[in-house]
Amino acid sequence: MTNINQNFAIEISDLKKIYNYKKPNAFEALKGINLNIPKKSIFGLLGPNGAGKSTLINIIAGLVLKTKGNVKVWGNDIDINERNAKLAIGVVPQELILDPFFTPRETLEYQSGYYGVPKSENCVAEILETVGLTDKADAYARSLSGGMRRRLMIGKAMVHRPPILILDEPTAGVDVALRQSLWKEVKKLNEAGVTIILTTHYLEEAEAMCDSLAIVNKGKIVAEGQTSVMLNKLDKKELIILLENDNADKIKLKGINITIMNKNLLKISFKPSEINEGEIIEKIYNSGAKIKTINSKEPDLEELFLELTNDI
Ligand code: ADP
Ligand code: MG
Repeated sequence: MTNINQNFAIEISDLKKIYNYKKPNAFEALKGINLNIPKKSIFGLLGPNGAGKSTLINIIAGLVLKTKGNVKVWGNDIDINERNAKLAIGVVPQELILDPFFTPRETLEYQSGYYGVPKSENCVAEILETVGLTDKADAYARSLSGGMRRRLMIGKAMVHRPPILILDEPTAGVDVALRQSLWKEVKKLNEAGVTIILTTHYLEEAEAMCDSLAIVNKGKIVAEGQTSVMLNKLDKKELIILLENDNADKIKLKGINITIMNKNLLKISFKPSEINEGEIIEKIYNSGAKIKTINSKEPDLEELFLELTNDI
């Protein structure tokens, strides 16, 4: 018999989560999620804090009980085949939880034991290599940098060789340089065949990492699709221009939307697909105005929500 869904790593239908169910403080964190995540993808769950991202991935990982709906992990229904569903997933939680007195090698050996991987078959050395910690294999975890700890957490999630790796806010509170090296590591794992699911509230991270996205807001998926297609819909940018003199009201540019904010302050909204910043600035110069400062503003997550929810 052919399985029509064999291309999906995760299949979710009508998933609901009510915390404190039937109690006075009941709270509906997931309000009916339908989602299929293709195998081998890097899939992002993007949304603000409190949207329900962690709740969703913790249900997938078997760490939080659902209230209603169906979830399949690598073809295994979590209600029917809980063990196989759990074995198909490695989770890197948002918080860094490591025993400071264990070395990376010990941490991975202990975790392998936890998953019942026989010592002869464990691939601790290989995982240390994959996450770039061979040099630090025998150093205490407490002496590792933040980035190394994060990589060790990834290694820990991989000891049972799951086909799916879930990262909850992998770079929250991580500095920019480290963020990029982490993105590289995760992409390498994906190239080696691992399906990656990550949650983030950074638009930039979703853009850099994910081939597809689901945008989660208040327990619902408000938009979903290929990252590039979704970001292209946001063909919108703004320039805030401070002028040397108070003649903002005199500036008229054909075909460009100008808002006069003050006698020396302009806001220009434009579509980058139609005109670039350089051309706009040139037009302003040519109109005789002198520019003191220019600030450009990219759309933020808030605008992305508004734009995509109005649109769909
Ligand atoms: P995100 O990961 O997108 O920030 P969460 O899934 O952590 O969101 O939380 C979604 C909502 O559910 C939030 O309003 C949060 O306060 C609530 N919530 C999360 N965990 C619990 C819990 N254990 N008990 C009650 N409410 C919770
Ligand atoms: Mg979270």
